[in-house]
Amino acid sequence: MAVAVEKKPMRKVAIYGKGGIGKSTTTQNTVAALAEMGKKVMVVGCDPKADSTRLLLGGLAQRSVLDTLREEGEDVELDDIRSGGFCNSLCVESGGPEPGVGCAGRGIITSINMLEQLGAYDEENELDYVFYDVLGDVVCGGFAMPIREGKAEEIYIVCSGEMMAMYAANNICKGILKFAETGVVRLGGLICNSRNVDNEAQMIKKFAEKLGTQMIHFVPRDNDVQRAEINRKTVIEWNPEVKQAGEYRSLARAIDSNKLFVVPKPLTIPELEALLMEYGLFN
Ligand code: ADP
Ligand code: MG
Repeated sequence: MAVAVEKKPMRKVAIYGKGGIGKSTTTQNTVAALAEMGKKVMVVGCDPKADSTRLLLGGLAQRSVLDTLREEGEDVELDDIRSGGFCNSLCVESGGPEPGVGCAGRGIITSINMLEQLGAYDEENELDYVFYDVLGDVVCGGFAMPIREGKAEEIYIVCSGEMMAMYAANNICKGILKFAETGVVRLGGLICNSRNVDNEAQMIKKFAEKLGTQMIHFVPRDNDVQRAEINRKTVIEWNPEVKQAGEYRSLARAIDSNKLFVVPKPLTIPELEALLMEYGLFN
């Protein structure tokens, strides 16, 4: 007899943070861990660099949605823009305009609309998660699109104990605050991607607390990330036994069981500076 299992709604996650902080790396490694847990996950890269899915795809250069539209016109099928990656993950790159021409944020809008039209989010895909890997520290214009339109409901900010990373995280919180007033978007936590700054974990924990959120996980800096990367793999696929694979599993479990979703309370610049002073950068 068939037993009706209640399907949990798909979780819509966006990963924000300063450029180069480790959003794409952290997203893909975490998605690999979620996929390993049996979750069905789609990753949508929202960076014109289109490098949000290469580790999941084993280095395969995914043709972006915008390039596909440019080359093939509107007559596009889901398989033209979505590829299967590690452990049944699904990978899409929105792409962007040629450098210096047009607004990169627009690509995200076009891509998400196209994915919706083609049924990528429909129930029969049985997605547990969609992850948007969003460019940079600006929550302006097109880059705010996933949260502005309710495409992403749950934000994680990747940061480190470096001042500019914390400054960017605080700015992103200002953006979230603005959209949270009228929408469903909430902050799920800070992911500390360590740069080996003094007292980093304590400082980011405190920073998270002041923002009204949590440090959901402290991801150590580890050269196994690079070793996996040159093999075009996530750490879990490259070597599931290494310590760093366990770190990404812990992060994935923390996200999967997260219940703390808040409207953040951004800090003032003096408050942010006081935090940096207190935890030692200037000691
Ligand atoms: P973003 O997407 O935020 O621009 P990336 O994910 O491309 O940043 O990360 C930049 C580089 O940082 C990556 O190429 C990767 O090698 C490195 N990196 C990220 N996280 C770690 C980590 N925890 N340990 C070691 N290297 C890391
Ligand atoms: Mg990136």
